[in-house]
Amino acid sequence: MAKANMDPVKCPMPAQDPTVRNRNFNEVALGYTQEMAVGEATRCLQCKNKPCVAGCPVMIDIPGFIAKVAEEDFAGAFDVLSEQTSLPAVCGRVCPQEVQCEALCVRGKKGDPVGIGRLERFVADWKMENGGELPAPPPSNGHKVAIVGAGPAGLTAAGELAKKGYAVTIFEALHKPGGVLVYGIPEFRLPKAIVYREIDNLKALGVQVETNMVIGRVLSIDELFEQGFEAVFVGSGAGLPQFMKIPGENLKGVFSANEFLTRVNLMGAWKDCSKTPIMRAKRVAVVGGGNVAMDAARCAKRLGAEEVTIVYRRSMEELPARAEEVEHAEEEGIIFNLLTNPKEVLGDENGNVIGMRCVRCELGEPDASGRRRPIEIEGSDFVIDIDAMIMSIGTSPNPLIRSTTPGLEAQTWGGLITKDDNGETTRQGVWAGGDAVSGAATVILAMGAGKLAAADIDRYIQEK
Ligand code: FAD
Ligand code: SF4
Ligand code: SF4
Repeated sequence: MAKANMDPVKCPMPAQDPTVRNRNFNEVALGYTQEMAVGEATRCLQCKNKPCVAGCPVMIDIPGFIAKVAEEDFAGAFDVLSEQTSLPAVCGRVCPQEVQCEALCVRGKKGDPVGIGRLERFVADWKMENGGELPAPPPSNGHKVAIVGAGPAGLTAAGELAKKGYAVTIFEALHKPGGVLVYGIPEFRLPKAIVYREIDNLKALGVQVETNMVIGRVLSIDELFEQGFEAVFVGSGAGLPQFMKIPGENLKGVFSANEFLTRVNLMGAWKDCSKTPIMRAKRVAVVGGGNVAMDAARCAKRLGAEEVTIVYRRSMEELPARAEEVEHAEEEGIIFNLLTNPKEVLGDENGNVIGMRCVRCELGEPDASGRRRPIEIEGSDFVIDIDAMIMSIGTSPNPLIRSTTPGLEAQTWGGLITKDDNGETTRQGVWAGGDAVSGAATVILAMGAGKLAAADIDRYIQEK
């Protein structure tokens, strides 16, 4: 192997200019060139104990694929990735690498860690551009499995089972598969063509996708068993928005981030030809500090808002969003109003939002989440003038499936109870994983859960 490149700085990612991109929905990060990718790959020390791998929820052989990139064997690098992940183009773009694989990279001790996510994206994009045929379906093993929900958890479980010869049908409530990857994460962060390409690979393996199928309404889980499915995987996500329960939340101009992002991303409300309306407000406040809040704020800006403010009750240090998204949002002119908690949404006589009364906070001791608890400062009230407010303080699993499936038990906050990491639920023949079990988490954790459940479903059916 060539001598390691000891540059302490990660090769920067080419990106659209912030003042241009904050008015369009094209992808922000443009991806490495071959030369950049090979240069970055040679920063990897090929550590024998592979510490970075322990930070990846699906245990990708990180030095293995990076070594292939350094050798300019990009097809080989893709094969190494494919052993553990079916959505590398997605994960390379949206994984919170700084708290996962890259957090454990030894190069991070004296400089930047190796750009593992950026290299993963490069390899996946190279493969898409340089072909490769769609996979052929394996011989059937004669068994049928149903998957509820076409998000990363359901898609991964479907892919793993289809590769083993199962006849897999995904039942998806929306009119398009992809889950949050298509209805939540905006085009400028994750182009939808990439998600659909990954779904085409699954269809080529024989996976059937039935859209507009709300399980618990159109068909129950019991009816799926009656139709001959021998096991069911529930990957229905956590799409139920939470509100703060403060006065004024029912005024015109208050949205949940889910509704706002679904209108923009899935229904294409940002396009002039879209039939789905969206409010184009001038001054928007987004309450929350996660990826969802950053996405909503950046979409509002692209829809023409003059002033978009993130309102978050802790400090910059505690912001849960991916570091890159926070950086990009700042570059695009999003204002951060930190250590601030909304108390009331203010409206005019017609019921339209005109402002938000907030209080300042200071940080106390860490709470159960390990983050310092915000404490409101008495008498610090102030008003922000706004004409729209997007609530992005979290989501929980929808109760529909658990309330229509006898024997399926859930936590008080809605997450389905599973017996172990393999996702077997309290109802025989039913597995669950992803946000439906954990509450809102990450793409790669949902994929990891789908993968473990698929292996356990295979064991269960083969032992029957
Ligand atoms: P989902 O992706 O929610 O998919 C569930 C699917 O089930 C949906 O398609 C839904 O329509 C369908 N469904 C629900 N109920 C039914 C039913 N009754 N019948 C049939 N189908 C049903 N994670 C990251 O790692 N990085 C990021 O940058 C990131 N950004 C995010 C940005 C936004 C705006 C959001 C909302 C989330 C983000 N996340 C991010 C979190 C990540 O997307 C989720 O953790 C992940 O998508 C969970 O996958 P899932 O398959 O469990 O659920
Ligand atoms: Fe890192 Fe995510 Fe890729 Fe794993 S899947 S190596 S955590 S970017
Ligand atoms: Fe390479 Fe960093 Fe992993 Fe070491 S820890 S093998 S340098 S990516």
